[in-house]
This record gives sequence, C-alpha cells and structure tokens, in this order.
Amino acid sequence: MNDVEDGPAPPSFEAEYALESPLKCPHCQETIKTLQALRLARTRVNFISLLPRRGYVVVCPACHSILSAELGGVLTRAV
Ligand SMILES: [Zn+2]
Repeated sequence: MNDVEDGPAPPSFEAEYALESPLKCPHCQETIKTLQALRLARTRVNFISLLPRRGYVVVCPACHSILSAELGGVLTRAV
C-alpha cells in the first residue's frame, strides 16, 4: 500500500549502499539491508559560511527518513 503522495516526484537516490548486516530503521521499524544516499545542493548561504556547497544525506530505503551515517570522507569535501 502506498502512502499519500504529497511530493512532486518519488524520491530519487543518488546511490545505494549495502549494509554489512541488516539494521532496523528507527523510524519505520523495517529491517533494512541497504541505505540510499541523496545529494544535497546548497541553495542559500551566509557569505561567510565555511560549509561545503554540496553534501549527502543517507536515508532509509523503506520510509525515506533521514538516518545518520557517514560516507568516508565524501561528506565533508567542498567543491
Ligand atoms: Zn525506515
């Protein structure tokens, strides 16, 4: 069963990563074996900001809630 579709398009992910062992998503309680990474594009910024222009969020493939994760080194690389 699909939930209410309130977005303009289904979430499209940039990459998918396999978990070494299945984890339970804290949001939807699904047991997940992969994580999806989506691109973040900076749209507004304070001109003195040192934050990178781009980043990634890692989400649950079942409910698309944002999960905390790191992709070795990629997250902090400024363009
Ligand atoms: Zn989930």
